[in-house]
Parts: sequence; C-alpha cells; structure tokens
Amino acid sequence: MSFTHLLEPLDLGFTTIRNRIMMGSMHSRMELLDRPFERLAAFYGERAKGGAGLIVTGGYSPNATGVIETGAPIFNDEADIPEHRKVTSRVHAEGGKILLQVLHTGRNAKIDQPVGASDIPSRINPCKPHILSGQEIEQYIEDYAHCAVLAQQAGYDGVEIMGSEGYLINQMLVTRTNNRSDEWGGSYENRMRFPVEIIKRIKARVGKNFIIMYRISAIDLVENGATGSEIVLLAQALENAGTTLFNTGIGWHEARIPTIAYMVPRAAWRFAIRNITENVGIPVIASNRINTPEVAEDIIASGDAQMVSMARPMLADPHFALKVTEGRANEINTCIGCNQACLDFIFTDRVTSCLVNPKAARELEFESAPSVTDTPKKVAVVGAGPAGLSAACTAAERGHDVTLYEASNEIGGQLNLAKIIPDKTEFYEMIRYFDSQLDKFGIDTRLNTKVEPDSLADHYDAIIIATGIVPRVPDIPGIDHASVITYLDLLTGKAQAGKKVAILGAGGIGFDVAVLLAHGKGDCAPNTEEFLRKWGVDTTMTEHGSLAKSGPVFPAPAHEITMLQRKPKALGRSLGLTSGWVLRSELDAAGMTAIPGATYLKIDDAGLHYSIDGEEKLLAVDTIVLCTGQEPNSELAATMQAAQINCQVIGGAAEAKELDALAAISQGMEAALSI
Ligand code: FAD
Ligand code: NAP
Ligand code: SF4
Repeated sequence: MSFTHLLEPLDLGFTTIRNRIMMGSMHSRMELLDRPFERLAAFYGERAKGGAGLIVTGGYSPNATGVIETGAPIFNDEADIPEHRKVTSRVHAEGGKILLQVLHTGRNAKIDQPVGASDIPSRINPCKPHILSGQEIEQYIEDYAHCAVLAQQAGYDGVEIMGSEGYLINQMLVTRTNNRSDEWGGSYENRMRFPVEIIKRIKARVGKNFIIMYRISAIDLVENGATGSEIVLLAQALENAGTTLFNTGIGWHEARIPTIAYMVPRAAWRFAIRNITENVGIPVIASNRINTPEVAEDIIASGDAQMVSMARPMLADPHFALKVTEGRANEINTCIGCNQACLDFIFTDRVTSCLVNPKAARELEFESAPSVTDTPKKVAVVGAGPAGLSAACTAAERGHDVTLYEASNEIGGQLNLAKIIPDKTEFYEMIRYFDSQLDKFGIDTRLNTKVEPDSLADHYDAIIIATGIVPRVPDIPGIDHASVITYLDLLTGKAQAGKKVAILGAGGIGFDVAVLLAHGKGDCAPNTEEFLRKWGVDTTMTEHGSLAKSGPVFPAPAHEITMLQRKPKALGRSLGLTSGWVLRSELDAAGMTAIPGATYLKIDDAGLHYSIDGEEKLLAVDTIVLCTGQEPNSELAATMQAAQINCQVIGGAAEAKELDALAAISQGMEAALSI
C-alpha cells in the first residue's frame, strides 16, 4: 500500500509540517522525576528522529490551579524558558516541530481546591469546585496568553489549547457543568466566549507565524454535553478568532463509553471528526484508536481529516513515521490499545511506558544500555511466547547469533489465545511485529521443536529459557469430573461449554473467558456500527452529548454465566483501571452473576458445591471453566539448572504470579541486554 496522503507535507502558509503524522499529547509523569527536561528532550527527540511531523507535549497548566495533580507541570515563569529550550532545540535538530499543550483541568484537578465554571463536582473528582468569578475568568484568559508567549520564547512552534476531555474549557461550554447566569453562562454564545477570547488574546500576542492549535471535543459522550451543531458553531467561532489547526478529542474522561481502549474499533470516531472537517476551512486532525498507517492513510485520503494524531502508537514505536517513509510499515511495533503501561500507569501514579516497547519514556536509561556487541555469542532461546520473542529479537539486534526454539507450530505463545477473545484481535499485531523482526535479523526459528534438557548445553554460549506457564488445576474434590475444563481447553477448541457455565477465578483470563462466552470468538476486527449501537452513541449527534435516547443496547449473551472467586472482594479488582470497567459493564449487561468469597467444596453431577460464610450452596451448571491462575512451566529450567547448565529463566517459566505480557516482554529485553 502506498501512503502518499499520509506523507504529504502540510503547508500552513507561514510554516510547513513535513508529513501528516502528529504525536498527540500524553501525560507522562516524567516531569516528576529527576532531570525532567533532559528526559523529555530524549523522549521527544527520539520521536522527531523517527519522523513524526508534529509533536505535542503533555499538558502544562497556565496557572497554579490547573494542574492535573500536585507537582504536575505549570508554565507561567520565564525562568523555566532555558529548560524548555532543551526540548525544543532537540526536536528541531531532528527536523521536527513541537507545540506546547496548555491545559487547565478545572474541576478535575487533584488539588485541595479545584476551580470550575460552577460548583458542580465531577464524577472522577468529588471535590466541590470554587466558582470562578468574572474577574478570575479574565485573569485566566490572560494566563493562557502569557503561557503561549512563554512557549514562543522557549522555541516551541506553537501551542495546543486543550479544549476537550472534560477539562476547564469543556466545563465552561456545556450546561452539565456551567449553570452561570453572567456573561459566561446562559446562552451557548456566552458559554463559548471563554475559549474564543483565549484564542483571540493569544493571537494578538504571538502574531501570525506561530501555530495556534485548538483541541476541540468532537463528541462529548456525557449527559448534557454539546450537540453536533453546537460543536460546529464553536469550531467556526474559533476559526474566526485565529485558530490555525483543529486537533480533536473524543469523550470526556468521565464518559461511561470506552473511547480509546482495545475494544474500540479502529477510527470508530471519524463520523464525529467529519462533522467538524465539513464545516470549517482550516485543517482538522483525527484522533483516537488510529494505530496503523493504513487506517491513517484512509482517513486522510477520504477527506475526513487532513492529519492524524497518534499518541500511544508513538510510545509503542517512536520510528513509526520513518518506517512508513522508508517502506517498512510491516516493521511498525503497533500499539494494541491495552492501556496497561501507559494510561494505567499514569492513573496509578507511575511514569508512563509501553507494554510492547519497555524503552518508552526511559530513553535516558537506554542511551547507556549496551548496543551492538563487540563479542557476538551463540544464543539459544527456548519458547516463542512474548518473553522468548523479546529476548531473541533484542539479542539478535545486538548482533548475537540467535536460535529460537518453539515446541508448537507457531510463534506467540499465549498471545495466540489472547487474540481470539472478542475485541482483542489487536494482540495479533504483536505477533506480526515479532515475526517481522525474526525475518529482519535472520533469527534461526525452529518451530515444532520441543527442547529437551540435554540438547542445548554444548552448542551455545548463552541460553534463555522462556517456556511459559501451565494452567493451575486447583485441588477440589471432583476436579476430574467431565464438566470441568480449563481455559486452555476452551480457547483451543478442545472442549465446548454448555448453556450454564461457572467460571472459577476472576483474574484477567476469567474475565476474558466470560466475554468470549457471552459474545463468541473474536476472529474478526470489532465492527464500528455494532460498537456504537451497543454503547448507545447517537451518530446523528442531535442529542446532547451524542448519547442515544435508547441508551446502550447489548446483545443477548450466548451462555448463562456465573463467575466465582475465593477473595471476599468485588470481582475484577485486578483488571486494568482504564479497561476493567468496560468488561465489568459488558458482563453486567450480559446478566453475569458474580460470587465473591466462595469456598469450593466439591464438583459432581449436580454441579459445583460451594459455601459462603459457612453456608453451603449448589450451582447447577453444565460446565465449569478453570481460570484459577497459572504455574511456571519450569521443568526444563529446573533440570538444566540441576545439571549446572548456565541459563537465564524469564517470563512465566520463572514466576507465573502476576506475569503478564508487559512483564514478559520487559524481562526478555533485559535478559538479552545482559548477554
Ligand atoms: P507463553 O506465552 O506461555 O509462551 C511460552 C512458549 O514456550 C509457548 O509458545 C510454548 O509452546 C513454548 N515452550 C514451552 N516448553 C517448550 C520447550 N520445551 N521447547 C520449546 N518451546 C517450549 N497479558 C497481558 O499483559 N495483557 C492481556 O490482555 C492478556 N490477555 C490474555 C488473555 C488470555 C486469554 C491469555 C491466555 C493470556 C493473556 N495474557 C495477557 C497473558 C500473557 O499472554 C502471558 O502473560 C504471556 O504470554 C506469558 O509470556 P511467556 O513468554 O512467559 O509464556
Ligand atoms: P490472575 O489474574 O492471577 O487470576 C487468577 C484467579 O484465580 C484469581 O481470581 C484467583 O482468585 C484464582 N485462584 C488463584 N489460585 C487459586 C486456587 N488455588 N484455587 C482457586 N482459585 C484460585 O491470573 P490469570 O487470570 O490466569 O491471568 C494471568 C495473567 O495474565 C495475569 O497477570 C493477568 O494480569 C494477565 N491478563 C491480563 C489481562 C488484561 O486485560 N490486562 C487479561 C488476561 C490476562 P481467588 O484466589 O480469589 O480465588
Ligand atoms: Fe499502546 Fe498498550 Fe503501549 Fe499503551 S501500553 S502505548 S495501549 S501498546
């Protein structure tokens, strides 16, 4: 496929962006570490080196009340200009352009006293906001303009004014959060004045040759949010006020509709973006769940937008744009939308990174990591799951001579199971990426080859064992009953489930199996129309917030599902913060019964016998699926270690508890770097 539209420069009159690929803004929390600006310079510099046309920084508040959390970055002091210059000069040296995002979080700020248009607290921050006075609003407009001027002095090519995701500007715009009766409230024209005045004031201060990008909420997805025609009215007013470019945002953070996680079909929101593109005369940038060059090219070629924003895909692969330019699109390490190491880290107070690229946001650390080796070694890697694949590819990239052994007839290990869960087809991309790397580095890959303990020792200088896990079979009387199957049996098609199913274990795999039982195998990409109907999105955008009057409409489940766990807590606590709620909502809608605090007594022809607080109960089911965790598949490693054969053991083979693909890939990389 050719990517002519994606690679075409974008001429803004006073400046030209080298292609249509933008790295969108992401909070990274790197600002809270030591040497933050050096880290940021290395982070953004790597993305500029990797060909991104335009980069937008994480949010900088224009004043003290707008921070995301205490300690988050503010830019209102010219003393900080030299620090910011480290970032801008690095990006410019690599041929890129960079905008500073100006973000005031309003009532979402995790500080003692957040501010807001009105004193209505947010679903995600219960603290009652202080109502901004008219005088304070005037000062805030000035603060935005001051921040833009500082950005210009620091060498940024422009600013992005954050007007989406439910932050302060959004809060001023809609009746959900603005019940004022002064000139900043009441009519939509009044509510629009805040962002329009901000743009006018910035334009007056920075002149013609500075990009003023506005991130507009293309669809709010909350009750009493804006309608499609109100969004157009705002866009036109902002264009007239001096906006150079529109970036788009999808849904407020407090929306109860998934907007970016893996279950959202790729480019699902282009209908909302088109609503803006068709009604303005300046370029519009599409965002959310655009993760491949094919999807990006299609959006631009169709005219739905003139540029695409990819934030997480640039964590996953900093050289995304360069690979497209050089005809190496198949080598792109694709963002799978899991949120596990990016958003879930941010929301649990950690610095962002990426499941498929553990180097993301750790560029400084890896600048000193061993690169191509002077002493190539013969390396054997056993097991082609994510741990083994990551080890093999990293070792080969460093110049070692690698042989990869895999017992089955395909690479990927358990990723092959993950990718058949409905909506998890993105996991296929991880396997596709690793496959491209095996080819690129000429790794000798031996499928259908089960390694035995004595077959490797004499031939290799280094051995890495990554043989993964085996499903745990708990010790319950009657566990051999014909109704009991493991998740492996179910996912590989070795066994089928009857109508009434009990799932034992409520971890990630238990929930995935429940979704599979409710909705069937995910052997094709999620369908956009079905997704939007299921979650109750009004695609005509005539309703406020674009929430359909009918509400969500989930399909009837294929099985009656009961999920149990021994812990006396709500089920699903271990799921990712930003995706777990989606699974819980889907399974609630599928009528799944959740039973915490269960003691499993026995299994027989009548079903599963269990007790809660000593009271015995019977669950009459046709099938019991064991999702009760995993044990290391450590036999090979144990035998080799007993024979004093030197080897590194990684992934599930070393420790199955809490092992996921994130840990597996990271351990694989570290093991290979240590050779
Ligand atoms: P494995 O993936 O188990 O790979 C081990 C490989 O070694 C296998 O291919 C096996 O055939 C091979 N092997 C074993 N013995 C030998 C031998 N003697 N010789 C040669 N080859 C051998 N994780 C996440 O982070 N996010 C998710 O959303 C997620 N979803 C999941 C959904 C499902 C349904 C499942 C089952 C797992 C999911 N996981 C998820 C977990 C993730 O897939 C595992 O943590 C990860 O695959 C473990 O990696 P590994 O390389 O250690 O082992
Ligand atoms: P898990 O998350 O550790 O869950 C195991 C479940 O089994 C728990 O609910 C546990 O609950 C139960 N259990 C453990 N020992 C048991 C025993 N002896 N008898 C009965 N029940 C027992 O593991 P998993 O679901 O197998 O997932 C494996 C890995 O893949 C995890 O790291 C997980 O994070 C990852 N994964 C992630 C996702 C994702 O979406 N992020 C999806 C799938 C998998 P009780 O002890 O309370 O009974
Ligand atoms: Fe994408 Fe997952 Fe990486 Fe986040 S952690 S950038 S969602 S692959």
